[in-house]
Amino acid sequence: MVLFLGTVRSSHPLINFAPYRRQISVRSRAISLPANGFFPFRRIFQACLQSNYAKGNAGVELPADQSEIIFLGTGTSEGIPRVSCLTNPLKTCEVCSKAAEPGNKNKRLNTSILIRYRPSSERSNNILIDAGKFFYHSALRWFPAYGIRTIDAVIITHSHADAVGGLDDLRDWTNNVQPYVPIYVAPRDFEVMKKTHYYLVDTSVILPGAAVSDLQFNIIHKDPFTVHGLKITPLPVWHGQGYRSLGFRFGDICYISDVSEIPEETYPLLKDCETLILDALRPDRSSSTHFGLPKALEEVRKIQPKRTLFTGMMHLMDHEKVNNYLLKLMETEGLDAQLSYDGLRLPVTL
Ligand SMILES: [Zn+2]
Ligand SMILES: [Zn+2]
Repeated sequence: MVLFLGTVRSSHPLINFAPYRRQISVRSRAISLPANGFFPFRRIFQACLQSNYAKGNAGVELPADQSEIIFLGTGTSEGIPRVSCLTNPLKTCEVCSKAAEPGNKNKRLNTSILIRYRPSSERSNNILIDAGKFFYHSALRWFPAYGIRTIDAVIITHSHADAVGGLDDLRDWTNNVQPYVPIYVAPRDFEVMKKTHYYLVDTSVILPGAAVSDLQFNIIHKDPFTVHGLKITPLPVWHGQGYRSLGFRFGDICYISDVSEIPEETYPLLKDCETLILDALRPDRSSSTHFGLPKALEEVRKIQPKRTLFTGMMHLMDHEKVNNYLLKLMETEGLDAQLSYDGLRLPVTL
């Protein structure tokens, strides 16, 4: 059994949540995973990685029942380019200068993915992981380009601003597209959001007629939960000493965007991972709250996924240079790892 770590509190009795609208507790359900079918999509996967989606060309057409992951953001909290690098008279930051050019893959906003879960050609669900400070800008860039209309759920990794800072922007959806957005959040992060997003949690404080986001909070626990039929398994990890963040596994894909250490209890949940999406902040070393590339590669060798895409890169990570380095690892040790980038579409089997 895997337990949440760190400062997470035990589950609150449901009665405590009574004042909050449409709030339910999510318990585990037994769901059998579909047989793995990733390999037929390997060619599409490679085409997606190589084509330049950042220029807004959707490129590969996918079948109507093909699920996919869309990378809405792959960068750090302040975004790339950093304003301070662009205003530096010495212009010493090559990556930020490149990132300011249209379509450059070094341009990165807050880490977030959208799972476009298509169990059949008639059904498509858009499940978002995190909506950070730059969510509006990510959505503006990619939603119209890729024909994304609804947000059918948001799953929260942790309650830092680059993961939840965009929840207020969901008002455009709940006022104009759909009645509400279900949010899936751990108790500890919900406690934080009661303060940071108090008017979205307790809408009784809102003046009549004010049109804020209408959010339905679902409290997730240590067990797998189901979102629109998709089984999601929480992957507890450390994100700095004593601070717990969640990764998530769905199908054979594991997404861990904010991690400084993976506890032993979480490794069994990463077994037989096909695609690992993993935090890699900087090229040289780890920080107190994030994996650097050397540590991230160490973990890849331990977890042994079929392939890895790194995310959460800061401005010291030059897309082309780091990817060229990673390609050499493919030649020398067969390690299939690349940097992701904003706008990347990845066909997946779920
Ligand atoms: Zn810079
Ligand atoms: Zn964080």
